[in-house]
Amino acid sequence: MNSVDLLLKLISFQTPTPLDDGAFEYLESYLSDFEAIYCNQNDVKNVFFTKQYGKGDIHLCFAGHIDVVPAGDGWNTNPFVPMIKDGFIYGRGTQDMKGGVAAFVEAVRNTKNFNGRVSILLTTDEEGEALFGTKIMLEYLESKNLMPTHCVVAEPTCESVFGDAIKVGRRGSINGILELKGKQGHVAYPEKAINPIHQIAHIIEQIAGVDLDSGDKYFAPSKLVITDIRSGYEVTNVTPNSLKLMFNVRNSTKTTQDDIENFINSKFNGLDFTLKLSQTASPFITNGNSLLVTRLSSAIEKQCGILPKLSTAGGTSDARFIAPYGVEVLEFGVINDTIHAPNEKVGVDEIETLYNVFRELIDTIGDEK
Ligand SMILES: [Zn+2]
Repeated sequence: MNSVDLLLKLISFQTPTPLDDGAFEYLESYLSDFEAIYCNQNDVKNVFFTKQYGKGDIHLCFAGHIDVVPAGDGWNTNPFVPMIKDGFIYGRGTQDMKGGVAAFVEAVRNTKNFNGRVSILLTTDEEGEALFGTKIMLEYLESKNLMPTHCVVAEPTCESVFGDAIKVGRRGSINGILELKGKQGHVAYPEKAINPIHQIAHIIEQIAGVDLDSGDKYFAPSKLVITDIRSGYEVTNVTPNSLKLMFNVRNSTKTTQDDIENFINSKFNGLDFTLKLSQTASPFITNGNSLLVTRLSSAIEKQCGILPKLSTAGGTSDARFIAPYGVEVLEFGVINDTIHAPNEKVGVDEIETLYNVFRELIDTIGDEK
């Protein structure tokens, strides 16, 4: 088998979240030299394959998910019967992210000399709520002293050419719901009412689309984006009792939930309002000079002839659960242009090159710095 054959096999498992459809059992026998640790909770399956080589302290882990989003309509082929055409493999999960899984499973399986531990972490709950997935396995690994030192999440990260981007961090996400209380009244007697729309009118321009920090070399500025404002009764003779404003901030490491709370409080000072903030993801960054980023960048340059840019753009991934443990974590995988769409596809050459990059990384990360 090679990484492309393995990908074809993985696509044939029907794995909408949280099903593995036998894929983990298959991989366990495929990686028979590795210890397999299962950590299942509710309907979610998580597996950790691990093997110690020599006495080294470095623990390199490749992480990913085997679950996929529903196939949906509009496919020209059966999404769970892989098809190769004109250099592309078609099937649900080819980019997101069975392609990455196939490349690292094959690379890890072919590890010959490594001075340390090499592992694979797989979950069936990344596309879902992610409550019982990678997070649960990490808690278990922490309790068993098996936390990796370095981790590559093989989500699709490349933009237009294979090898053009590594994700070295992600922005966080903070949701806000503000309710401004007023006093309902007749439109003809505004002096007797408290109109929350009039109260907020001059504040809107001070908060809408405002940058809460100036960003840095990894992050774009944390921008407050208003997603909804509602108030009133859709009539022209009554002023409303209250107003509800909803917003989101994709935050860098420079802006916290407390910063947002202080910002809003300062703008609404003196008004009767309540504010609810919830952080659904924390931002993280892995330094561009770290061992993992430099070794992976060199491996990409050697295999692809280009030096990847270091990016933090896009939505969240399971890397957000790994980073808080102090693990050096990044994401690198194939081009991201058909994920979650019908006729999802990946280049055969991308899978082969990704395999080579991961092999190169395994061979060089233990070297003298
Ligand atoms: Zn994914």
